[in-house]
Amino acid sequence: MTDQRNSELCEKARAEIKSLRAYQPGKPIDELAREFGLNADDIVKLASNENPTGPSKKAIVAMEKEARELTRYPDGNGFDLKQALCQKLSKDSVAVKPENITLGNGSSDILDFIVKCFVAKGDEVVFSQHAFAIYGLVTKIQGGECKIVPAKNYGHDLDAMAAAISAKTRLVFITNPNNPTGTWLTQTEIADFMAKVPSDVVVVLDEAYFEYVSEAEYANGLTLISDNPNLVVTRTFSKAYGLASLRVGYGISSPEVADLMNRVRPPFNVNSFALAAAVAALGDDEYVAESKAVNDAGMAYLTRSFDQLGLPYIPSVGNFISFEIPPVVSAGVTGVSAAEVDKNLLAVGVIIRPIANYEMPNHLRVSIGTQAENETFIVALTKILADTRS
Ligand SMILES: *Cc1c(COP(=O)(O)O)cnc(C)c1O
Repeated sequence: MTDQRNSELCEKARAEIKSLRAYQPGKPIDELAREFGLNADDIVKLASNENPTGPSKKAIVAMEKEARELTRYPDGNGFDLKQALCQKLSKDSVAVKPENITLGNGSSDILDFIVKCFVAKGDEVVFSQHAFAIYGLVTKIQGGECKIVPAKNYGHDLDAMAAAISAKTRLVFITNPNNPTGTWLTQTEIADFMAKVPSDVVVVLDEAYFEYVSEAEYANGLTLISDNPNLVVTRTFSKAYGLASLRVGYGISSPEVADLMNRVRPPFNVNSFALAAAVAALGDDEYVAESKAVNDAGMAYLTRSFDQLGLPYIPSVGNFISFEIPPVVSAGVTGVSAAEVDKNLLAVGVIIRPIANYEMPNHLRVSIGTQAENETFIVALTKILADTRS
């Protein structure tokens, strides 16, 4: 009876929601420990592009202070964090004012707000093949249509994306660097693209991995906002700032677009721990420099190891890299599929990320860990490949 009523009720849900599948996060450590009877401390998780160095000590101290104020709602306008961001961003690149900033419960929140502001049923949203899964999810929830543009060498084909914009297009997502491919775009490429986009189409430039990139030609979206009021740049504290669990990110845009986003932003969407820790982490330049150094060293080690194993990979400027398990034995490399390699890694307590749902069934994405974690992964991978070759 209850089942019957339940299914009748759920039938009434919006069609857009019924056709969705929930976002698949990387497997949590405790879940794997339960499944395979492993000790959680022995498990290496390199599946969600998390910062492997542990949080900034300054962030922890700031949170401890904040704990005494738990009975209060957080500052719903995030005054201190906006001030800190203005200082930091203005010092590093271009002048940013509090009215340019929208704070999010993770930068995923900002992606959701901007789509809610601009995309109605039937409107088109353009993004690249192999792009971040959240774009399709937030678009479909609004009833928007995803227009997915084929990638070029795993990266964004900006010419094709510009050409895909139609009268029905309201918004374009660009990821720089892109997750899960690690490909990146230059300042000139983004500026040229913006020149082709109609000024009433929003462009969201997702710079979640901005702090990791060293390439001199790499674009800094903030410098393009004053010339392009239709540009929204998103960044996060989840990656190089090491605060993924707290959920805090931000959007930088014209004050007018920020005002729109603040209308759909739920009250108190960023909690007081996140606000305080983000301010502290933002002031901890040493922490970010160390995180980047660990990442650079890990990236060099992993690419060297893939070369030695004869596994192709997509050069990446993020804190992750996608490598290929060539699908056929005749490639002379291996006799296993990417899915099997993933399964065998899980069995020995190494969690990485299959990306078949990104239309890359022969690739696996691994986040850059500490040197010890990277070695555990490479030793396990080497053994799996050797076992299947013999
Ligand atoms: C990790 C990631 C984010 C950040 O998500 P948060 O909600 O800020 O944790 C955004 N975009 C991409 C492409 C990412 O990989």
